Amino acid sequence: MNVFERIIRREIPAKVVYEDDDCLAFEDIHPAAPVHVLVIPKKPIASVDAIEPEDEALVGRLFSAIRKVAAQLGLGNGYRVVTNCGPDAGQEVMHLHFHLLGGRTFSWPPG
Ligand code: AMP
Repeated sequence: MNVFERIIRREIPAKVVYEDDDCLAFEDIHPAAPVHVLVIPKKPIASVDAIEPEDEALVGRLFSAIRKVAAQLGLGNGYRVVTNCGPDAGQEVMHLHFHLLGGRTFSWPPG
């Protein structure tokens, strides 16, 4: 079982900032910005590559959760949403997650 599944099961601690029936959002343990929250589905989906057609509504709810958390944390001036998929992108935890980053400006293209 990966670390995010253990956070969902409350087997390891996390600073939860948002939760609903399908989604959980908590602070990243190694923040890359003043605001760095991970928004995840409670359903175990490994990555974007593992999203099935039956998950389309769930993915929509994840983005609604991202928008709510961004508003809750005062990111009215903008924010970045990132998901790493697979080895080339440096995905470390094989449970779908969206990094919500804010509180500073970001450059483009990313590294
Ligand atoms: P990724 O490289 O996209 O798979 O990102 C995984 C993210 O999970 C990294 O930003 C880590 O800092 C974060 N992370 C790993 N373990 C924990 C944890 N126990 N609590 C919060 N964030 C974590």
